[in-house]
Amino acid sequence: MASSVAVLGTGIMGAGMARSLLRAGLDVTVWNRSAEKARPLAEDGAKVAADAADAVSSADVIVTMLFDVNAVAEVMGRALAASREPAVWAQTSTVGLAGTQQLAELAGRHGRGYLDAPVLGTRQPAEQGELIVLAGGPRELEPRVAPVFEAIGHQTIWVGDKAGDGHRLKLALNSWVLSITAATGQAIALARDLGVDPQLFLDAIGGGATDSPYAQLKGKAMINGEFEPAFGLAGAVKDAGLIVDALGAAGDDPSLMQAVHHLMSAAAEAGYADDDMAAVVHAFR
Ligand code: NAP
Repeated sequence: MASSVAVLGTGIMGAGMARSLLRAGLDVTVWNRSAEKARPLAEDGAKVAADAADAVSSADVIVTMLFDVNAVAEVMGRALAASREPAVWAQTSTVGLAGTQQLAELAGRHGRGYLDAPVLGTRQPAEQGELIVLAGGPRELEPRVAPVFEAIGHQTIWVGDKAGDGHRLKLALNSWVLSITAATGQAIALARDLGVDPQLFLDAIGGGATDSPYAQLKGKAMINGEFEPAFGLAGAVKDAGLIVDALGAAGDDPSLMQAVHHLMSAAAEAGYADDDMAAVVHAFR
């Protein structure tokens, strides 16, 4: 049963998850590469560690929520040796299938239990403890991470007993999320550039069979030019690349996700990388 949790990475997602863990009464130590993003969590009751090794040294559960596999491998490559038996590593960053394999092997070399635990949900669900955890790994680790997963999410889906199983579902889910965002951007741009008020597109689908809360949310942001990041464009480009790789590995045609990747990359290169992925609307012109 976890009582002490280390959260490595307090960006959009990690900060919200740390606050949810604190509200659940867990003993939380946070670390972030840029210390100024971790420091405010002290006001919520977190201990703020000066380095990642310090953060994990007394943790029952280590949660990583960093940008990509390179960041996680670099940070945990340094920190894992300081962790104590029987710490479990719950890896929640989106790192893809090859990335998950790489990190599970790293955990194995240090004799630590590893759970593949990517999450569904963005900034607000992370803050509210309303994520969906997509777990893959040995079920005997479940009791040790259950208090953590219950604090950060309202549901845990145990996809399978192998590292990578959580990511298999996560990549399928993100293929949907990225596609619907790009498709919304296309419809908004097309209406606008044909001289029609794009709000009429959202009004016309509103409440019908082709409507989606996500299309309304991202479409409104596109129309209003409000791109404060909930799911950042740089991360969406990274995830689109991971999904293209997974489609190839599965023997499926990757051309739809390649087009999404192309559009999101173009918007990022045009200067919107730090904005929400709704900024993909800029790529259509
Ligand atoms: P974010 O706000 O950009 O945070 C990224 C974090 O990674 C920051 O803590 C950053 O540290 C750290 N980082 C990046 N490169 C690093 C490196 N080389 N070494 C050490 N730390 C490094 O991103 P986020 O939205 O929280 O996403 C985090 C992960 O969750 C990503 O894998 C993303 O795909 C996944 N995810 C995101 C969402 C979402 O909607 N936002 C939803 C589900 C999953 P600094 O502060 O020092 O830059």
